Amino acid sequence: MKLTRRNFGKGLGALATAIAAPSLLRAQSKGRLVVIGGGAAGATLAKYAARDSKGALEVTLVQENPLYTTCFYSNLYLGGMRSFDSITHGYTKLSQAYGVKLVFDRAVGVDTAAKTVALRDGGKLAYDALAVAPGIDVIYDSIEGYSEAASLVMPHSWKAGQQTQILRKQLEALEDGGLFVMAAPPNPFRCPPGPYERVSLVAHYFKQAKPKSKILILDAKNKHSKQALFQEAWETYYQGMIEWVPEEFGGKVEAVDAGAMTLVAGGEKHKAGVANVIPAQRAGAIAGLAGLADDSGWCPVVPESMASRKVEGVYVIGDACIPGDMPKSAFSANSQAKVAAMAIRHELTGSKKFPPKFRNTCWSTVAAEDAVKVGANYQATEEKIAKTDGFISEVGEDTEIRQQTKMEADGWYAGITNDIFG
Ligand SMILES: Cc1cc2nc3c(=O)[nH]c(=O)nc-3n(C[C@H](O)[C@H](O)[C@H](O)COP(=O)(O)OP(=O)(O)OC[C@H]3O[C@@H](n4cnc5c(N)ncnc54)[C@H](O)[C@@H]3O)c2cc1C
Repeated sequence: MKLTRRNFGKGLGALATAIAAPSLLRAQSKGRLVVIGGGAAGATLAKYAARDSKGALEVTLVQENPLYTTCFYSNLYLGGMRSFDSITHGYTKLSQAYGVKLVFDRAVGVDTAAKTVALRDGGKLAYDALAVAPGIDVIYDSIEGYSEAASLVMPHSWKAGQQTQILRKQLEALEDGGLFVMAAPPNPFRCPPGPYERVSLVAHYFKQAKPKSKILILDAKNKHSKQALFQEAWETYYQGMIEWVPEEFGGKVEAVDAGAMTLVAGGEKHKAGVANVIPAQRAGAIAGLAGLADDSGWCPVVPESMASRKVEGVYVIGDACIPGDMPKSAFSANSQAKVAAMAIRHELTGSKKFPPKFRNTCWSTVAAEDAVKVGANYQATEEKIAKTDGFISEVGEDTEIRQQTKMEADGWYAGITNDIFG
């Protein structure tokens, strides 16, 4: 038999049956799943794989920081609607209730032949299956003059934590009448409606605390998610406060100077009071180091299982993967994690596998009592995770519908963080 990728597993299965011993060995030793990254994707996967395998798998979660601040709802913190604590979560329940082994360290390399993960502290973890969920890295040098050091002055706040706190402090310190400039990123990036929700909630804060302040969005794109809905909200609540400059009118930021607090776009120099520079993005570094990313900087996967198309025995979920029609969102990451958990349990314990289902809804808060949403269902095809049907809020909806949508959004945040960490 020719050993192609398609019949690779079948061949091994036949061999195992013929000599019987490997299946005996499997019964005696637990399959080892290592998950890199404890965000919306990785923490969900670790929890579901551990919980549903009922002790048949040894699940280890490698996560840099013992506390995780969600990017989702971080805009509400920036707008003064939520506390920082309310968007920060720990991992105790994962270990205590489901037996997930926690390793608070950074994965710095993967040997996919030896099936080991190298840790920054010098340790090594062996795995039978590996899931990689590192989220994104921002590409600092995609904007001239931008760097990790510059991001302390002109924060991207596109990874939550210290970056989000820097931006909030700067917004608080801005004088009434000061200018907030956002450099909005090119596609594809984490959370397509995120920049525009952020602008809405910064405007909400300004309206209360510094009503003479203005917002300028310099955008690397010509259109964006929920555009008509955001523009409607800006007209309704924040008239005259927000200017959006698309790429075709010179919106793409080419260079920044953190010392001078200036941004250059379309040949024009803009001086900011607060500058939120969100550059282009790619999968978190470990994905590249493990050979999982392609030339796009993102990781191609088999939609049915979220298995890497590049490295056997490795799964990629969340923002780091190429998600077909799904947006890069926490809801998507959580949905993909459940598909991968089922596929991995099937691979390591022989448990049943069902056709995968993917779902996403992205809510955006645009004012205290007003939120809009977009969502869809998806199925796995050979080629990609493909959208089957979808919905979006309508322009001109009743106040009650919007209040209802805002309540749904808050309910979703409570529900998903409990689903991930609870
Ligand atoms: C402003 C903003 C608003 C958003 N709002 C929403 C929203 O309303 N709804 C929604 O669904 N989504 C929203 N998102 C998107 C959402 O935050 C992301 O899609 C989601 O967090 C992706 O999950 P992830 O697990 O792939 O990555 P992350 O959540 O980033 O998790 C990755 C984790 O892995 C860790 N890590 C990385 N590399 C390593 C390594 N080598 N070793 C160990 N640990 C590592 C990181 O520290 C991090 O904790 C928003 C994003 C932003 C920026």
